[in-house]
Amino acid sequence: MVSIPHKVRVCIVGAGVSGLGAAQRLIKCGIVDLVILEAQDRVGGRVHTVEYGEHHLEMGAQWIHGEEGNVVYDFASENDLIDDELSLIQTGTGNTIFVRHNGEIVPEEVQEEFSLVTANLSESSEKDFHTYPHSSGQYFTEKFKTENKWGTLGEELLNWYGRFQNCIDGSDSWFDISAKEQNNYKECPGNISETVPSSCLFLNSPVKSIDWGICTSASTSGCKVTLTSDQVIQADHIIFTPSLGFLKAMAKEVFNPPLPRTKVDAIQGLGFGVVDKVYIKFPHRWWDESCDGFSFLHDLKEVPDSITKENWEYGVLGFYEVFKHPDMMCGWLTGPAALMMEQTPKEEVAKRCAAMLRERLSHKFKVPDVIWCTSSSWGSNPWIKGSYSLCTMKTEAMGVKAADLAEPLIDSNNVPLVCFAGEATHDCYYSTVHGALETGWREADRLVKYLKSNRAHL
Ligand SMILES: Cc1cc2nc3c(=O)[nH]c(=O)nc-3n(C[C@H](O)[C@H](O)[C@H](O)COP(=O)(O)OP(=O)(O)OC[C@H]3O[C@@H](n4cnc5c(N)ncnc54)[C@H](O)[C@@H]3O)c2cc1C
Repeated sequence: MVSIPHKVRVCIVGAGVSGLGAAQRLIKCGIVDLVILEAQDRVGGRVHTVEYGEHHLEMGAQWIHGEEGNVVYDFASENDLIDDELSLIQTGTGNTIFVRHNGEIVPEEVQEEFSLVTANLSESSEKDFHTYPHSSGQYFTEKFKTENKWGTLGEELLNWYGRFQNCIDGSDSWFDISAKEQNNYKECPGNISETVPSSCLFLNSPVKSIDWGICTSASTSGCKVTLTSDQVIQADHIIFTPSLGFLKAMAKEVFNPPLPRTKVDAIQGLGFGVVDKVYIKFPHRWWDESCDGFSFLHDLKEVPDSITKENWEYGVLGFYEVFKHPDMMCGWLTGPAALMMEQTPKEEVAKRCAAMLRERLSHKFKVPDVIWCTSSSWGSNPWIKGSYSLCTMKTEAMGVKAADLAEPLIDSNNVPLVCFAGEATHDCYYSTVHGALETGWREADRLVKYLKSNRAHL
C-alpha cells in the first residue's frame, strides 16, 4: 500500500467531482506532485451510485441539467455514458398523478391547465425576477392569486409546486429563495476518477486542520495539512473542495489563521439545503405502466407549523418511478422533513411510505408491503452536511456572492496558498455536477498559471 507523502506541491482536499476534476487538469498540465485526501471510503462525494441488482441507484446527483455548454454532458456523450438520454436529462417528474389527502385524483385537465399556468409564470418570472425584491415563493403566490380558478385545490397544487421547487433548489421553503439571485442561476440551454492515478488518491483520510501561510524557507510560505490521524503533510498549495455545509460547520476549527471576514460572511450568507431520496421496492409493480408516479397534495389546514420525527410525511413531494427498476419508487423530501426522515430507522421509513401510498390510493390500487428500502442521508453525513447550495433572501441581504467563497487565500507575495473549489463557488452553475467540475478546473488553471508565470518546474 502506498503511504501518504509528507511533502507535496499540491494537496487537494476532497475527491468529489471538483477535487477529481482539479487533479485531472493538473496532471494533464504536467503537475503530478499531488495528493487527493478524501475523508470517506469512496470517491464521488455527492455523486453516489449504488449497485442494486443488475442496475444501479443514484443516491445523489442524477440528472444532467442541459446539454449545450455543459461539460458533463459533453464528457458523458463522448464516452458513451448516456444510455437513455431522456432519463438522464429530464428535469421534471413526467406523467404523474396528483392525489389529494383524501385520495381524490386531480383530473387530468386540471393538472394540464395548472402546468400551463406555472409554465407561463415561470417564463414571466425570468423577466420580473431582475427587479423583484422578495422571494420566489412570494412572487408565484402573488401572481397565482389571479390565475387560480380551482380555489382550495389550486392552493394545494401551488403548495406542491413550491415543494417541487425546494427539491430543485435545495431550499427549506421557497419563501427563502431570493428571486433576484435566482436569475444568476443558469441551466445550460441545450469517469473522471479513471483519469486520476490511484497512487495519488487517499481514501479514509479526513483533514483535521490547515495551517496556511507558514514559512517554509526564508522567502517562501506554504501550508501544513494535518489529518485526523495526526499525520502532517507540507503542501505548497491546497485546493479545498468540501461542501458549503462542511464549511458552515467546521471552517472555524479547520483554518488557522482564521478565514478572512469576506469569506466568513459568504459561508454564513450563502444557503445550503437538504434534499433526500427514499427508494422503496415492492414485490411487483402495482401501478399502471403509463403512470410515472404520484404527487401528493396536502390539506393545507392540516399542515403542521413544525416538522417532527412523527410527521415528516408532510415533506414528501410524492413517489416516482425509478429508471430500470420497474418495481421501485423514489420519494423526495427536503429541509426539516428530510433531516427527520434520516433519523428514522429504515424499517419504519418503509412502513410509513407504504402507509402514505395506501392512505391515498387504496381505493384504486392494492399497495403491497415494501420489501426493501434505502435512503440518502446527506444532512447527517458529517463530510457533506446537506445537499447543495442556493441563494436565499439572507444571501441577498448580506450582499455575498459565490465569488467571495471562491477567492483564494494568498500570502504577502500574492502566492495562492489555499484555493477554493466546489459547486457552491460557481457563480451561475452552483448546485450542479457540471458547476462543480468547472470550479475544479478553474482552480487547477489558477495554480498552473501561477506556477508557469513563476517558471517553477511543472
Ligand atoms: C440528492 C442530490 C441530488 C442531486 N441531483 C443533481 C442532479 O440531478 N444534477 C446535478 O448536476 N447535480 C445534482 N446534485 C448536486 C451535485 O451532486 C453536486 O453539486 C456535486 O456533486 C458537488 O461536487 P463537489 O465536488 O463540489 O462536492 P462534493 O461532492 O461534496 O465533494 C467534496 C468531497 O470532500 C470530502 N470532504 C469533506 N470534508 C473533508 C475533509 N475534512 N477531509 C477530506 N475530505 C473531505 C467529501 O467527503 C466529498 O467527497 C445533487 C446533489 C444531491 C445531494
